[in-house]
Amino acid sequence: MGLVNKSIDCDFKINKIKEKEIDGVYFYKSGKVFMGGKVSRIKNLDEIPSPYLTGLLDKFFEKNLIPIIETNRGCPYQCTFCCQGFSSFHQMHFFSMERVKSELEYISKHVKNTHILNLADSNFGIVERDMEIAKFISELNKRTGYPHVVSCNLAKNQPKIYELSKILNTLIVVSTDRKFKPTSTSKL
Ligand code: SF4
Repeated sequence: MGLVNKSIDCDFKINKIKEKEIDGVYFYKSGKVFMGGKVSRIKNLDEIPSPYLTGLLDKFFEKNLIPIIETNRGCPYQCTFCCQGFSSFHQMHFFSMERVKSELEYISKHVKNTHILNLADSNFGIVERDMEIAKFISELNKRTGYPHVVSCNLAKNQPKIYELSKILNTLIVVSTDRKFKPTSTSKL
């Protein structure tokens, strides 16, 4: 938020934004790296206003874009090539179930140009409540026809993902590199 607020205050003028350090941000200027102070992660994710439920993303439903949501943030794994492998990201924090379901409902009512939903979670299926989310998505598909395809990054080494795949059945597409790999020949 520090960078967003600073950018707004500086009217998005990059030289002004870079006048001094910003907490949570590293930047390069005149051959030097400037480091702001540490910023704590947000634990109660519902503090972040929903860009869907506030209507901020409504105009993007007019375009040929795929809606994307997060149900949690953080990853317990430590892949060295990944920014989420940092120890500061190990603790997982969650959006409330009510918020997740409301966003999914909202998207299903407003979506126009795609049948795809992208779940941005690093490890969908890593926690028990993901089964409830999968059931909700499956029920939403039966009730509204959306989503027809769910692209997600599944949890690693988790027996639960077998159950999750059964719930989502042909809806699920595993995206490991942001390229889609359909598991069925269903119309996208
Ligand atoms: S499991 Fe995925 S998100 Fe987590 S650290 Fe590894 S690459 Fe990053």
